[in-house]
Amino acid sequence: MNNFENVFVIADQIQNDLRPVSMELLGAAKELAEKLGVKVQALVMGHNLKDIPQILIERGADEVYIVDQPELKEYTTLTYRRAAIAVLNSFEKPPHIVLCGATTLGRDLAPRIAAYFETGLTADCTELDIGEYTHKGKADPSKIGTFKNCLYAIRPSFGESLKARILGPWKNPQMATARAGAMIPSRVNTKRSGEIIPMKVEFDKSDFRVKVIETIREVSKDLDLVKAKVIVSGGFGLGGEEGFNLLKDFSTIFNDSAIGASRKAVDSGWIPYAHQVGQTGKTVRPVVYIALGISGAIQHRVGISNSETIIAVNKDENAPIFQFAHYGIVGDLYEVVPLLKEQFKKVMGN
Ligand SMILES: Cc1cc2nc3c(=O)[nH]c(=O)nc-3n(C[C@H](O)[C@H](O)[C@H](O)COP(=O)(O)OP(=O)(O)OC[C@H]3O[C@@H](n4cnc5c(N)ncnc54)[C@H](O)[C@@H]3O)c2cc1C
Repeated sequence: MNNFENVFVIADQIQNDLRPVSMELLGAAKELAEKLGVKVQALVMGHNLKDIPQILIERGADEVYIVDQPELKEYTTLTYRRAAIAVLNSFEKPPHIVLCGATTLGRDLAPRIAAYFETGLTADCTELDIGEYTHKGKADPSKIGTFKNCLYAIRPSFGESLKARILGPWKNPQMATARAGAMIPSRVNTKRSGEIIPMKVEFDKSDFRVKVIETIREVSKDLDLVKAKVIVSGGFGLGGEEGFNLLKDFSTIFNDSAIGASRKAVDSGWIPYAHQVGQTGKTVRPVVYIALGISGAIQHRVGISNSETIIAVNKDENAPIFQFAHYGIVGDLYEVVPLLKEQFKKVMGN
């Protein structure tokens, strides 16, 4: 097996905290690699990375390349670009597929890598697959042919109303960034073994044009929306920010719960943006998503479509959310929520 035939994941870490999207990327990469019969390689860059390479192996990487140098303590575009390209260039040819998270880091770094290799990049994918492609276009005869083992980079398009399958079979690496929360994370297997390959990168003076003095992370006290098992979410139908007090009270009966919101509720200043679910907010995957006073616009739907069960309460029986909710209750949320709370408490024995 040649190195360049593999699926290569660039792991995302901030201050040595491996971001959940890295596990999701490994989950997707493992599936792609199984279809192709190749290995999963991962790259992690930073300083004092400690057990991160081992975690990546336990999550599905067969080989982990590490660049652990003081220059990479804080993320800057030029230093991380230099390190990533140095590792990718150490192979005989660029890998078949390179994946990054559609995070602040990945959205910044992936285009730099794609530009260096003069290859395409599909941003913000919600699904990835492998397949064949036959190109019949007459504009460029050199592109005509049937291409096997193409990366299908799939993402919502046209205001999220269609799923587009975007391909670039003519050039490797085929690159994509994956939306956080959209892919299923790989499971931990502490018995997995893999190879850790330390790399040393020479930086150029020009890589330090931007200096990060300090990174201050805002760590929310609320449970992370992406990890929550139950999300109680409110929309414009709440009628005002006080409505979220009802939701907070309701959510306390569930373990691992979080409060979500539609963009209209966020734009109205009723709740911070960190709670927004949807196209321009978070993609969530809870066991139960309870949508209260949310109409179910396509931009909201794309963020919740991976939920196991969607329960919607809306006073308009024609609200679009009833077309895709698993359970729908037509009624005023201020009357329905106290009844729902009592019923859930009975069922859960609280
Ligand atoms: C580029 C773009 C990106 C976007 N990104 C997002 C995104 O990430 N997330 C997102 O949510 N939206 C997003 N939107 C906005 C989206 O199109 C909708 O405008 C928004 O989701 C509507 O929010 P809503 O359902 O809370 O409000 P509305 O559409 O106003 O719906 C309110 C609902 O509450 C019901 N209601 C009213 N009172 C009650 C009551 N007392 N009891 C029960 N039901 C009641 C009404 O019947 C209605 O269905 C985006 C839009 C664009 C153009």
